[in-house]
Amino acid sequence: MQNRITELFGVKYPIVQAGMIWTSGWRLASAVSNAGGLGLIGAGSMYPQVLREHIQKCQQATDKPFGVNVPMLYPDLDKLMEIIVELGVKIVFTSAGNPKTWTSYLQEKGITVVHVVSSLKFALKSQEAGVDAIVVEGFEAGGHNGRDETTTLTLIPAVKEKLDIPIIAAGGIATGAAMLATMILGADGVQVGSRFVASDEASSHQLFKQKVIESGEGDTQLVLKELAPVRLIKNKFYQDIQNAYANGASKEDLISLLGRARAKRGIFEGDMEEGELEIGQVASLIHTIKPAASIVNDMMTEFEIAKKMVASF
Ligand code: NDP
Repeated sequence: MQNRITELFGVKYPIVQAGMIWTSGWRLASAVSNAGGLGLIGAGSMYPQVLREHIQKCQQATDKPFGVNVPMLYPDLDKLMEIIVELGVKIVFTSAGNPKTWTSYLQEKGITVVHVVSSLKFALKSQEAGVDAIVVEGFEAGGHNGRDETTTLTLIPAVKEKLDIPIIAAGGIATGAAMLATMILGADGVQVGSRFVASDEASSHQLFKQKVIESGEGDTQLVLKELAPVRLIKNKFYQDIQNAYANGASKEDLISLLGRARAKRGIFEGDMEEGELEIGQVASLIHTIKPAASIVNDMMTEFEIAKKMVASF
């Protein structure tokens, strides 16, 4: 398939594997890239030296394009960007911050820059900042998200109406049929997170992967809007948040309840009770853990089947 996104990244399929903390290291990113999609190393959970190792290992594991996702929530951003430039990474997805901060700096180094947004307002800001493409992430998505609860179905056409740059849809996409649906609405490609959590190559804990494939409809919720909204699985930590709300918790109480490294505890260390289990609504449609290449291939097969079905309407 050829379109604006495959051409922008030099990939076979317009499928981007989302950068996900504690989940998308070099193994997952290189597997997705080798399968024809675009793999992303999630730098959010990586100290600079760790990111360096992951980029170098990814470069050894694939000769296909791959990128790095840098959420601007973490310390050492300057060092992370320095390493990205030094090691010759060609594609960077920035998120959770202002697109103006890094876009021109990276582009001057010959890097393609994509920014992740959850609203039309930030999509317009990203276009103004000169990004090469945007990811528009709906309310269904896992992990950090917008406050406005705009769903993928609403967000894509709203952004398409106002923007000229390529659009990558995210949030609720785990199948080729969903990919086709977003493309009919105006997307040029998709970013897929949750489906790749349940992959052999994801570095997340096996217990977390198991929890993801066992979760059903209604098992996730977007919480902590007072801080930074995050969609997670309803476990004991989620229940503690609900109890805190019921007791009239202040913002400071919530910060203190969240503590430090909750996501690592859940996603990477496998604490299913106390950890923060970030995943999208679409987890309820995912029932198997499989190799990343099978996920990419299955999505493309489903995409072709869905296209034929549409032709019969
Ligand atoms: P925390 O901020 O709680 O902790 C930092 C984590 O990042 C640790 O696990 C640490 O690893 C890792 N890390 C990677 N690189 C660095 C670095 N250079 N310096 C320090 N730590 C690093 O992590 P979260 O991922 O849970 O949260 C990220 C941000 O998002 C925070 O600002 C947090 O407050 C916010 N947040 C907000 C939420 C909400 O409001 N809904 C929910 C979750 C997070 P190690 O443990 O190995 O040191």
